[in-house]
Amino acid sequence: MRAADPYSLILAFLMIQLAALGALLADLQRDRDIRDLGFLLGRVLQIFGWSMIFYRDVLPDGISVILGNSLMFAGICLDAATLVKLSRTPPRWYRRAVAAALAAFVGTVLLELPGVLQRERVMFICTLIHGGLMGLSSYMFFTAPKVSPLRMVLSASYGIAAAILFWRGWWLTGIGYYRLTDPSLPQVASILAAFGISTVSAISYGLLKKEWAIRQMRVLADQDGLTHLYNRRAFMRLGTEMFQRARSQGTPLWAMMIDIDHFKEINDTYGHSTGDEIISDLAFVMNKVLACHVTCRYGGEEFAALVLDPDASKARALAEALMAEVRRSSVMGISYTVSIGIAGMRGHKNLLGLINDADAAMYMAKRLGRNRIEVYRPGEPSADEDPMGDRKEREMEEALG
Ligand code: GH3
Ligand code: MG
Ligand code: MG
Repeated sequence: MRAADPYSLILAFLMIQLAALGALLADLQRDRDIRDLGFLLGRVLQIFGWSMIFYRDVLPDGISVILGNSLMFAGICLDAATLVKLSRTPPRWYRRAVAAALAAFVGTVLLELPGVLQRERVMFICTLIHGGLMGLSSYMFFTAPKVSPLRMVLSASYGIAAAILFWRGWWLTGIGYYRLTDPSLPQVASILAAFGISTVSAISYGLLKKEWAIRQMRVLADQDGLTHLYNRRAFMRLGTEMFQRARSQGTPLWAMMIDIDHFKEINDTYGHSTGDEIISDLAFVMNKVLACHVTCRYGGEEFAALVLDPDASKARALAEALMAEVRRSSVMGISYTVSIGIAGMRGHKNLLGLINDADAAMYMAKRLGRNRIEVYRPGEPSADEDPMGDRKEREMEEALG
């Protein structure tokens, strides 16, 4: 059965790829990155590769079959690897498998030159390598940690292409010869699969990059630039979820406010960059001691943490561990201390009330001489009644937007 003319398909494909290349080049002028260059190279290699395959009757075999197929497959490998990398952190074995597939493909087409392998054998092996790469890439999209409809479409497309290529491989073993211009269904379907994947990849690249940029923006929007801890906005969002969970489950929630003592003096004596290093050092210590809890840079030299634990003594024990670690720590020989306030949940309306209590306890620690831990005791002036508390409440409402 005659399905279609492979030459017309290649021409149509070359036109689509040239259009994709133009779009990519136009985009490149605005915002260039290494992945764009990789993907661009992939398009160029495929255009050159397929052009050489197209001129099989005119060009010497060494150029058309060996160079053409190698460039075409190198472009396909670049496409698959770039798209997978945009979707997830690829495991090392995947990267190795792509490199091995490319080496095996080029090695196999090279073996045709001295006549070690017949063309039909070369095409059979290359078809299987191509199908294997498509199958592996489909698996990579399918098992990416965050499912997105786009990745599912990519996984399905690569999976279908793999199935078609394996079908062509099986068909090649039965017919005993290979001709590029063969209009049979498996030959046409496999050319269409290669073109379809390449076109789907060209379209998906821009969309995946957008998904990736949104993910990056979300991470950056939640992070403090100096310490990489959560910023106050992310802390309030996560903390409010924790607060509601703790209230509905009846699990005690503890808030901790941590403030570096006499930090202005440190800045004035050693300079702001040393001050910044001390802030980073405290963040490092907090990450170490409070690794399983939600921590944030609340602002300036103030930090906050939330501890959800049924054990009432846990928050105090953690604060003591933090205090001890801070006392041991120093930055360029400069040691520093912190004052810590702790408050437990006690019928607060919202997270803000709990944080205000911890803040009041922290100010109590400051008043009592600094470098110490104070636990908020109900009845003491709370930040709710304190003008400083009003300020904090306003700031927190602003931070929550
Ligand atoms: P206390 O013991 O009462 O907390 O005194 P303090 O000096 O630590 O507190 P104060 O609020 O008077 O000063 C805090 C200083 O922290 C003032 C501000 O310039 C400095 N600061 C805030 N953010 C940063 C920062 O990102 N880097 C540096 N180096 N300094 C900062
Ligand atoms: Mg301070
Ligand atoms: Mg302060």
